[in-house]
Amino acid sequence: MRVLVVGGGIAGSAVALAVANLGMQATLVERRGAHDPNEGSWITVAPNGLDALAALGVLDRARAIGHPTVTNRMYGATGRHLGDVSLGVPLEDGSVALTMKRSALAALLTQAAAEAGAELRFGTRCDAMSDDGHSVSFTLGDGSTLAGDVLVGADGVRSTVRTRLDAAAPTARYVGLTNFGGITPGSRLAAELTPQAWHFVFGRRCFFGAHPLSTGEVVWFANVPRAEITRAERTATSAERWLAWLGTLASEDAGPAAELLATGRLELAGDNTHDLAHVPTWWRGATVLIGDAAHAPSPSSGQGAAMALEDAVVLSRCLAQDPRRALAAYEQKRRERVEAIVRAGARSSSAKIPGQVGRVVQEAMLRVVFASGLAARSTNAITAHRLAEEVCL
Ligand SMILES: Cc1cc2nc3c(=O)[nH]c(=O)nc-3n(C[C@H](O)[C@H](O)[C@H](O)COP(=O)(O)OP(=O)(O)OC[C@H]3O[C@@H](n4cnc5c(N)ncnc54)[C@H](O)[C@@H]3O)c2cc1C
Repeated sequence: MRVLVVGGGIAGSAVALAVANLGMQATLVERRGAHDPNEGSWITVAPNGLDALAALGVLDRARAIGHPTVTNRMYGATGRHLGDVSLGVPLEDGSVALTMKRSALAALLTQAAAEAGAELRFGTRCDAMSDDGHSVSFTLGDGSTLAGDVLVGADGVRSTVRTRLDAAAPTARYVGLTNFGGITPGSRLAAELTPQAWHFVFGRRCFFGAHPLSTGEVVWFANVPRAEITRAERTATSAERWLAWLGTLASEDAGPAAELLATGRLELAGDNTHDLAHVPTWWRGATVLIGDAAHAPSPSSGQGAAMALEDAVVLSRCLAQDPRRALAAYEQKRRERVEAIVRAGARSSSAKIPGQVGRVVQEAMLRVVFASGLAARSTNAITAHRLAEEVCL
């Protein structure tokens, strides 16, 4: 069986690796060049995502690029501790969530896929595709055509494969938050903040997260509620101006934000946060969607990459067991779980936007939620999922 994959992010790289591991041929096209492991934002891969990495045979390699992370510590704008939420149920061997560069994970997966025999074509765009129900093909930017048995659309939240499957498919929703990320080297806060924890501040004008690394660096991000940032504004605004603006927004809040912003550098600027809750058509004929193309939780869920990894493992197992029924079985296994996670992510995003209730009331409500164990139970339910339990057909 030959599997054609459009997109070489986390989902596409993982599915190319997964099918190659199971003895199938995989050809992946990615319009960008090969991943630079040092670029872009940081993500935390929760234990259920680690379980998928173990199924892909790369958990040890992921440990080498990741930083263990066990807790989310929540604070209010005045520095009041609102509660702690564990990052989920560790694997049986004790592995806890790992914080890493998203690009480093993608680079690791593409490297492993190439080693497993997958053909990877970076800097190659898929321009058109066809599917007669039994075989598929796609046309590349240079005009050449490749044929296969299954086409996997792993082309992200703005997927064109999705609209090829269903011209009326929904597009992503802006959740009302912009995203900035950065790193502060050599900060005294690296030793002062609790190790292996994200420190979250529900600030007056922005939500801020910081994670100290054992290297002496502190990784951080800021979510600012506002209208979407346009391409023109992004182009016209320098990193220094964004940092100064973020510093002003965080200036009245207690916690590490002001200091980290003043001494740090931006790695992600002016990203608009989207989610995509329900895509009616996940597959048709021999074409199927995975990852953000099918279901995109907002980053606040901390689950987008983990979901993409789970998708890749489940789809590859379904294809290996019974190609004829594989796509229906994959959807049946995945849809309910991922859609529930997108809904949970939407609630987490809303909590970052100070609403009409006001800050003091919001903090009181958050304290009740964290003390009640509601947030912990929800995280545990999501992160305790193990793929060894999956039988596809
Ligand atoms: C700021 C931020 C923080 C996040 N934090 C977390 C976190 O802590 N934990 C977590 O689990 N998840 C997190 N996520 C979510 C996670 O990063 C995504 O869900 C995940 O990376 C999606 O992977 P994907 O491969 O489906 O899509 P993408 O990463 O978007 O990859 C799609 C790829 O397809 C390529 N492509 C598109 N069209 C074509 C074409 N026609 N031809 C060839 N190639 C094409 C694109 O170039 C791209 O490389 C975060 C996301 C953001 C934005």
